[in-house]
Amino acid sequence: MSDCLFCKMVSGDIKPAIVHEDDDILAFRDVNPQAPLHVLVIPKRHIATLNDLDASDAELVGRMTLVARQIARDKGIAEDGYRTVMNCNAHGGQTVFHLHMHVLGGRPMGWPPG
Ligand code: 5GP
Ligand code: ZN
Repeated sequence: MSDCLFCKMVSGDIKPAIVHEDDDILAFRDVNPQAPLHVLVIPKRHIATLNDLDASDAELVGRMTLVARQIARDKGIAEDGYRTVMNCNAHGGQTVFHLHMHVLGGRPMGWPPG
């Protein structure tokens, strides 16, 4: 999708601070971090929201979770703990309509979320 911000990161038109890349997944630092570690894990293929996933995407989403786990380990926050978040549509607070998993850590998180 030529007008999608995160697709432009996949194509290299915009260069984020990348922390992981493989054939199907990219992870980069959030430009407006909400915690000492705030990384976004995205599929390289454009998928707009969680609602647009189907059963054939199960492995891809599972691998996104494993990438989040690996980043937490590599950044040294795994044992203290961290949070993964996937916001969907208006009530979820989604602002960029290319699927992404937030990985937040480096401080205690509050609950419930706002
Ligand atoms: P959402 O609100 O859709 O769940 O999360 C979108 C995230 O994308 C936000 O945390 C926002 O800070 C991040 N973001 C928006 N524009 C950019 C950008 O140009 N670069 C990076 N690295 N992150 C961005
Ligand atoms: Zn996209």
